[in-house]
Amino acid sequence: MLTIFNSLSRKLEPFKPQNPPAVTMYTCGPTVYNFVHIGNLRAYVFYDTLKRLLRSHEYAIKHVMNITDVDDKIIRGSAAEIPNCGLRPAPSERKNQDPNERIKSFSKKYEEAYFEDLKKLNIISADVNPKATEYIPQMVTLIQTLLHKGVAYKSEDGSIYFSIKKFPQYGRLSRLDKKSLRPTERMIKDEYTKDSIQDFALWKAAKEGEPSWETPFGKGRPGWHIECSAMANDLLGETIDIHSGGVDLIFPHHENEIAQSEAATGKPFARYWIHNEHLLVDNQKMSKSLHNFYTLREIEEKGIDPLALRYLFLTVHYRDKLNFTWESLEAARQALTRLRDLVATWDEPAIGCAGYEADFLAAIADDLGTPRGLALLWDLVHDREYPTSARHASILKMDKVLGLRLDSRDEITLSSEEKKLLDDRQQARRVGDFEVSDEIRATLENKGLVIEDTANNGFRLKRKRTER
Ligand code: AMP
Ligand code: ZN
Repeated sequence: MLTIFNSLSRKLEPFKPQNPPAVTMYTCGPTVYNFVHIGNLRAYVFYDTLKRLLRSHEYAIKHVMNITDVDDKIIRGSAAEIPNCGLRPAPSERKNQDPNERIKSFSKKYEEAYFEDLKKLNIISADVNPKATEYIPQMVTLIQTLLHKGVAYKSEDGSIYFSIKKFPQYGRLSRLDKKSLRPTERMIKDEYTKDSIQDFALWKAAKEGEPSWETPFGKGRPGWHIECSAMANDLLGETIDIHSGGVDLIFPHHENEIAQSEAATGKPFARYWIHNEHLLVDNQKMSKSLHNFYTLREIEEKGIDPLALRYLFLTVHYRDKLNFTWESLEAARQALTRLRDLVATWDEPAIGCAGYEADFLAAIADDLGTPRGLALLWDLVHDREYPTSARHASILKMDKVLGLRLDSRDEITLSSEEKKLLDDRQQARRVGDFEVSDEIRATLENKGLVIEDTANNGFRLKRKRTER
């Protein structure tokens, strides 16, 4: 039995998908106008852990995670930069560039970096990563339906707005105070706060120098919110099981997604809304606009394994705020290294410890209780009642949910001295100096590091079994 907190009911609910074992899941992805920061990555690790939990319950998940590759920020960013060179082009040069092509080449490098970050954090790829610019026809169809139903209207400048007074349920997810509604006013910006509860843009009329597409209702580009409704409907159906994102997306983004989708289909858009809390820095939300963010690159530059960040995220419940400090990341790094080094000394996995495995799964199934899950994992690590082979087997099962790559022998953390000795040994092997290579092997073995040579000058490493 799996329970999860649903932001729609504000309650813990038993998880019951529409058509088990199938589960449809939509998660809001990045806007590729910059490198994603580790706050974004907290959201992505949360999505991934949720997905791994569902997998451990034998659900077959279809996961869609979008990429926003056209919006206000991308347009501003691309106009300020010559693609791949970071300089502001001369006005004449900018005029000559096709704006649709310009945003494409501008966002490409950030998109590639985003996928690299996901890989480094051992995040399982989504089944589909649709891009907004590739879903214009689906967005156009949806907007036409909304116009046809009279819940959307065209303004004087040719932009199309959603009329929130035509959708009485507006504000249900974010518990809006309806008294502050100002439905006579309009909001063209994609991002705004609850002080601006107004009709929002579905389609923005074309402007000189901005990317645009021809449609039956005029030339222009999509507002931000419409892409998620169109993609979810097209790829997952009218009602999806799970919709996730960070808490900052509840208003206006998710509220607007619900309005667009439900006004068009007359059906509930998502059954479980699951939101992660923020990663903070100095107790403020980490965000690009506050310039208080770190990227995974900065973490790697300090020689820290990206999975130490994953470990840190797992130590705090996804619905609690987490204040990032380098000290806490260092503590997570040390814990992960110790865990890996211990596991590497254990006997080959066999059988397992059923009691611990059941307790672990129950802890995680209780609203994704990763802190409790990690505590149980450490209890098992230290429980000498069980042979290391059994502990090893259970830890690897737990890792299927945690995603810390505890099962890879390549993940042994080497000291700089060990690294140097290994390099020297490889060099000796390459030149056929087996005396030196054997000597180094013996030195390393005395230090507890066992080398097994494999074909083509390859090798495998193992820590000697010292802990039982
Ligand atoms: P964005 O690119 O800003 O649309 O954000 C992509 C995802 O990251 C969304 O699910 C956001 O809610 C989430 N996110 C942004 N900032 C943070 C943060 N500081 N902590 C946790 N999640 C965040
Ligand atoms: Zn979205």
